[in-house]
Amino acid sequence: MNTNRDEGVIKFKLTLKRAPAPEMNQVIALEKWRALFFKLALIGEYPIDKIGYGNLSSRIGKKTFIITGSQTGHLAHLQAHHYSKVIECDLKKGSVTAEGLIPPSSESLTHYGMYEANPNINYVFHVHHQKLWEMMCNGPFDYISDDVPYGTQAMAEAASQLMGTKTSGIFVMKGHEDGIISYGATPEEAGKIILELYRKLAVRQ
Ligand SMILES: [Zn+2]
Repeated sequence: MNTNRDEGVIKFKLTLKRAPAPEMNQVIALEKWRALFFKLALIGEYPIDKIGYGNLSSRIGKKTFIITGSQTGHLAHLQAHHYSKVIECDLKKGSVTAEGLIPPSSESLTHYGMYEANPNINYVFHVHHQKLWEMMCNGPFDYISDDVPYGTQAMAEAASQLMGTKTSGIFVMKGHEDGIISYGATPEEAGKIILELYRKLAVRQ
């Protein structure tokens, strides 16, 4: 089957510095939301191609953040060592430097682009859901057009234009099948906006 799915493959140049995993208290808010999203299959693994999807991050500094590790989508619960600390990115060069025991999510560059573009946001949640994605593609929602590939400088620029100075919001990536991103100043802001839409969808069905 030919799809737009572009999941799981690390496209950037990664330097992973072996370092202790983030502390549990640094990931607890992410883990809370992640466990719920996993239950709702907003984070998970595509059954046929066995590719994990969905990734969450939280800012820890001006341009640094903690993000779920690559290929962890199939796990219901993560330990601290499944998270990685991204300490430097270069969108133009497509490079990422991280610290930890696991490579950061293959979608780290987009998270970085959003943090860099908007100092008001501290949490970025990326989930996948086919029906939610279809609803958003066909509805009055912020979107990034289908010619913008995920994880690129163009995506970061498009996202920063959409966000402006907003402190929370959600948008659909038309060129990244099933892909939705929410953001907020707090984990609740970023998480609830996804949940509200998910519930709306459930009511419609
Ligand atoms: Zn994705």
